[in-house]
Amino acid sequence: MKKYKAMVLSCIDPRFQPKVFNYLKKKNLTGKYSSFTIAGGSIGVTAKKFKKWHSTFWENLATSIKLHKISNLIVINHNDCGAAKIVNGNNKFSTSIENKIHNQSFKIIKKKLKKKHPSIKVSFKIMKI
Ligand SMILES: [Zn+2]
Repeated sequence: MKKYKAMVLSCIDPRFQPKVFNYLKKKNLTGKYSSFTIAGGSIGVTAKKFKKWHSTFWENLATSIKLHKISNLIVINHNDCGAAKIVNGNNKFSTSIENKIHNQSFKIIKKKLKKKHPSIKVSFKIMKI
């Protein structure tokens, strides 16, 4: 496996932390990634509802690129995410609605990353809790 350094963007949900850790361990990334953990993962840094958090993420990503020479951004969201429910508001919530919310945030990240840091590779995942 090719060695690289990454930033991992993931959610604060306590149920999810050991899964993220084990997933990254399996990918041989232990000690090679910086963690940016925020409610909703990519939802937290793209949804209008969490506007104040967006620039913090992009500034941290730029810092990690500079300091840690990362080449990849790994986005790991999870199902049954409270932040997706907050974004959805009082509307009916279902798995397909939640997936749309995750995928929308992935699109925004992809677009902004291409503009701000075109050399950084990105991958997206929705993990099952
Ligand atoms: Zn979550």
